[in-house]
Parts: sequence; C-alpha cells; structure tokens
Amino acid sequence: MDIISHTLTGVAVGTVVATISNSSWKNKALIILSGGFGGTLPDLDAISLWSKFDSTIGALFGLSHSGKEIYFGKFWYSHHAAFHSLIAPIILILIYTLANVILRGKLKCSNALVNAKSKWFPTIAFFLGFLLHLLEDMPTPASVWGGVNLYFPSNNYVGGFGNIWWWNNYDLVLIILSVIVINLLINIIPVRFYKMKIISSISFFALGVTLFLIQINVRTVDFSYTGHTTNYAMFESQSKAIQKEILGDKIFQIMTTIDNKIPLNF
Ligand SMILES: [Zn+2]
Repeated sequence: MDIISHTLTGVAVGTVVATISNSSWKNKALIILSGGFGGTLPDLDAISLWSKFDSTIGALFGLSHSGKEIYFGKFWYSHHAAFHSLIAPIILILIYTLANVILRGKLKCSNALVNAKSKWFPTIAFFLGFLLHLLEDMPTPASVWGGVNLYFPSNNYVGGFGNIWWWNNYDLVLIILSVIVINLLINIIPVRFYKMKIISSISFFALGVTLFLIQINVRTVDFSYTGHTTNYAMFESQSKAIQKEILGDKIFQIMTTIDNKIPLNF
C-alpha cells in the first residue's frame, strides 16, 4: 500500500487515542502526529530504492549488493522484512524510552515531562499506527516478498493476498479521511461527554475498519502475483477502472487530479 494511505491510517488511529487521552490540544496533536509517524515508518526500508542509495548508504556500509537488489531481496533490511515486523516498533519504543530516561536523568526535566500517563498516549498511537501499516500491506500482491515479515526473526512472511493493487485505492483513502474528520469533530465535543466521546470515537473507527475490509474484498480483479509480473501495467489500469466504477466519474476525476499532483505513488 502507498505511504500516504499508511500515514493517514496512523493519523486516524491517533485521533482515537487522542479522544481517549482527554488531554490538551497540544498533547492531542502530539498523539495524532505520533500515530502518523508510526504509520509511515515501516516503509523506511524502501530507502534502498532511492537513486543515490548505492553512492551514499551503500558505500558507507560497504554493501556488496545494489539498492535495487536489497529492495527486492530477502535480507533483513530489504523491503517488507525486519522493518515490517511486530518486533520493530517494540525495539524502537524501547530505544526511545531508554534514550528518554537517560536524557531526562541528565537534564533533570520538570515534572510535566515526567508525567507518565500523558507520555504513553503518543507511544500507543505510534505502535498502533505501525501495526496498522503491517496489516494494510497484507492484502497487496505477494511479489518477490510474499507478504510482510511479521514475525521477524522468523523467515515466515504473512500476506501477499493480492486483494488490492499497490496504490490507487482511493475508496480506502476516502474511508480513512472520513474517520479522521469525524474523530477530530468528536474531539471538539465538551469534556463532560467524555464517555460518549470514547464510545463514538471507537465505534466510528470500527465502522471504518469494517468498510475498509468490505471494500478490499469486493474488487472484481485478482491482483495476486509472485515474483515480477509482465501484467503490471494491466493490473494498474484495472485497479483504476475499479476505482472509477466505485467512486463515479466526478469523484474519480478529483482523486486522479490530486494523485497526479503528488510526486509519490498514491
Ligand atoms: Zn509497507
């Protein structure tokens, strides 16, 4: 799945955690951003596809394989490998917590920064954003990886089902965006309705997940392939045709215009 959809999904789960946190808007913004960051981060392993990878990172670490070989390979640092596992966000959170403790000890920060309760909400949002990214990558084609290396260091890859194409899933993006907007509005409701806010926030998120799951299972094309495919362009145009059918000409045109303006696969 594309990085924009992943980031928005992290933001969406961040808005739910923000509702639950019942904290200041400043803290809520941090929670939502942390969710978005968690949603983006797994695809950091796609850096090997960067045009200057070989002359910079590759040269620095003396790597004997090219960035392209790494990206499409089965090394632990290849795309969909260790960075797409359950253990990755746990290790990252541990490193962050440890660094925070060391830094806090040295700087002797104020009690506000040591407030453990508020500190954990951004971490939870980060973890959930990261986790949802891994789940969202599962319905894409198997390609050379065969899913994501969910249980790294095990060699098993999970997913690669081919329910959806790699990108152009505008219907899913619109579902995610709706969840974000609704949850932001819920956050505006006065604190005295806290219980109702939590129930609504979680319910709308669950509704979004349900609609998402329905949509990925009603595609009329099976996008599954292993290795590399010669039908790449055909699959992509079929995916777009499905979107046009689902969204109608008008919304499809708007989404295509936005897509064309974004210099990323979307
Ligand atoms: Zn990914």
